[in-house]
Amino acid sequence: MFRSPRGTQDVLPEDSHYWRFVEEQARRHAVRCGYGEIRTPTMEETALFLRGVGEGTDIVDKEIYSFKDKGDNDLALRAEGTAPVMRAYLQHNLQQQPTPVRLFSLINAFRYDRPQAGRYREFHQFNCEAIGDTDPLVDAEIVLLLWDFLNGVGLQNLTVQLNSIGDNTCRPAYKQALLEYFSNHESELCDDCRRRLSTNPMRILDCKNPRCEPVISKAPRTIDYLSPECQEHFDRVQEYLTIREIPFQINPKLVRGLDYYTHTVFEVWPATVGAQSALGGGGRYDGLAEQIGGPATPGVGFATGLERVILNLKEQGVEPPKEPAVQVYFVVMDEEGRKQALRLATRLRADDVPSTIAPRGKSVRAQMRQANALGARYAAILGGDELQAQEITLRNLTQQEESRLPYDDAMALLTTASRKD
Ligand code: AMP
Repeated sequence: MFRSPRGTQDVLPEDSHYWRFVEEQARRHAVRCGYGEIRTPTMEETALFLRGVGEGTDIVDKEIYSFKDKGDNDLALRAEGTAPVMRAYLQHNLQQQPTPVRLFSLINAFRYDRPQAGRYREFHQFNCEAIGDTDPLVDAEIVLLLWDFLNGVGLQNLTVQLNSIGDNTCRPAYKQALLEYFSNHESELCDDCRRRLSTNPMRILDCKNPRCEPVISKAPRTIDYLSPECQEHFDRVQEYLTIREIPFQINPKLVRGLDYYTHTVFEVWPATVGAQSALGGGGRYDGLAEQIGGPATPGVGFATGLERVILNLKEQGVEPPKEPAVQVYFVVMDEEGRKQALRLATRLRADDVPSTIAPRGKSVRAQMRQANALGARYAAILGGDELQAQEITLRNLTQQEESRLPYDDAMALLTTASRKD
């Protein structure tokens, strides 16, 4: 027996209403802020991620699904959404459009991660990117869009974690201070972090190993090294969030895993924070376009994981509206009944009333049982008597009432009842 690959999931019909709901809400929130939908391929040249996300990051070093195809091309499954969107922006000259260019996408992404609750190898994200503008109001717009989406689906008790990591005018002095500090405490760090000391010391701040916690908590903070311009940018972002009364906390440890961030970085956390429970996050990435070979192009964006959003909805007891179940189940006794059921079901389906016909070879009693098990609202019974009189018996399965009506009247009744839902 085949099983789905480790770290991937099937979404069954009993769960799909959660997906439909969060995807609809994502679209609604993006569109109402002026974002247009972009869809990029599931695979890209591997080098896009190596250069865009950066070596020394977990994504590139350990998690990327890269392979050679039969034409010897180096390809990788999409590991995150921002580098591909920036690639598409540059490729299609979107900078000719009024800036910022606002783009959203709903994507699947792949990382060779250790699967656990909220962490998978194929997962899904809602991404928004605003490209081409350095205005801190756009940073705030991005934070607020994620905030409004997560609250809009019904999640409660969220907080925004906010930090600024400056830009390449202030970053070198900060990195130097950090390197000195961690070098002095090397023996107190975990093995991974000792390695990071030479590859990417800022990533040590992200470490979830409790062993590193005491050293990290006293490490130099990016916000103490900001240039006046970076400080001004950060102050503005906070001012805008304050106008919207968003509960944000400055979190000096937040640097995010990817290399391309500058200025604002942020995450949204649920009330109960486990090691990997950020619902979403993002930040400004003014250096990304150049990193992947384009002209200097500012940008800011976020990504939020839909599996995590759905897990939190379930934890908080939020249940979105279900797909309409089968409304009408045709109970038939013979071949004539099946043919008539096909004609009548066709009429109902044309009016968007979900209808099914009983499978072959089941007794009436078994058909009624199945109608109930499927949650049908009506059993539409076509026995010999009914067929002769060109009538149909409708049994309302929630109220256990029965009436016998001519075909046209029955169809009208079922259509009206379905509209009332
Ligand atoms: P990142 O691109 O790492 O900033 O991730 C953005 C969001 O995507 C996270 O906050 C999660 O909600 C989600 N996410 C990232 N990695 C995974 C994963 N392996 N499984 C499920 N969701 C993930």
